[in-house]
Amino acid sequence: VTLGQSLYLSQTLTHWPSCSLGPPTEPEGGDVAKGNVLETAKRKRSHVPLEIFHLRYLSVTDISAQVWCEQQMVYRRERPDLTTPENIVLLNTGKSIHLARELEDHDLVTVSTTSREDSWAIKVLNLLGMLLVLQEGHRVREFPVFGVLEDIFVVGVIDQLGYTPKGELELNELKTQNNASMPSAAQKKRDRFQVFLYKYLFDAMVQGCLAPEQPLGPHVQDQARKSGFTVSHFRDLLELLSLNLTHCEIPAIDRLQIEYIHQDSGTALGTEVVAYDQDEVGAAVRYFLAYWKGQRDSRGVDVEDAWKCRYCAYAGICEWRMGKAGSPAERWKKSK
Ligand code: SF4
Repeated sequence: VTLGQSLYLSQTLTHWPSCSLGPPTEPEGGDVAKGNVLETAKRKRSHVPLEIFHLRYLSVTDISAQVWCEQQMVYRRERPDLTTPENIVLLNTGKSIHLARELEDHDLVTVSTTSREDSWAIKVLNLLGMLLVLQEGHRVREFPVFGVLEDIFVVGVIDQLGYTPKGELELNELKTQNNASMPSAAQKKRDRFQVFLYKYLFDAMVQGCLAPEQPLGPHVQDQARKSGFTVSHFRDLLELLSLNLTHCEIPAIDRLQIEYIHQDSGTALGTEVVAYDQDEVGAAVRYFLAYWKGQRDSRGVDVEDAWKCRYCAYAGICEWRMGKAGSPAERWKKSK
């Protein structure tokens, strides 16, 4: 696979497997699963957010959103109806810019998937193709990463990986700004944590809780054949991935860079190179994932960050802001 010829597989999921608890979250920037989340939550009577929201895994953006305001991230799941149209437009514009950049490097090929494993197989196939491109010294975009953090399966997509003139492996995260100025310190803090998590996952790259014996759907097997791999079960792909990761001699990420551009004009606003701190990431991951495991209640912003509430779509209903926050279980009792 060469840079000019590389393809990226996108997927259309045609069937959710009956064993599935429901659709998983989207890999990156994904939205809430369809349906009435609160109603389901009432039925389940669980106090563990992962179960309440029917999540089999979390995305890196779920966790980095907790850096900005954990309570806001919770409301975004509980009350998607309150998301402002401006936010949706901003999100879609950001997605279009990312897609345009991606298409500079490769075409997209749509493959039908019929199971959760098929869907993951597509990610692994993309990953296998990207490893080859990286090994040849070229850059790749939309690189999938996944791993287990604090017993929770976490997935993410790195915007861009490539080599610096000095030969360092560099991660570049693209952020689009509504205003033509560099972001606030609070935004930078969230973005910095996001790239830390990508590095954490990329460097460790462990496998998660998927069913290795699941046969792959015919379209996925066909696409794998076209990519030069003979695989029939998801297990085959994981073994192939593990072998390739072990022998590819791609280094750990050396350099983390965040690039900010103005959303409307596409003008470059600046870049931030951030220094990685493994201890800081480990402590923050333990803290944030404790919420998802039901080990502590969600939290809103601290007093010094109360200015964030002025720009928050949930300010009118936010119990944290009104000093009435309770645990998710208490909130459901009230909503019955
Ligand atoms: Fe967080 Fe403030 Fe929004 Fe509440 S109002 S969710 S504390 S930002």
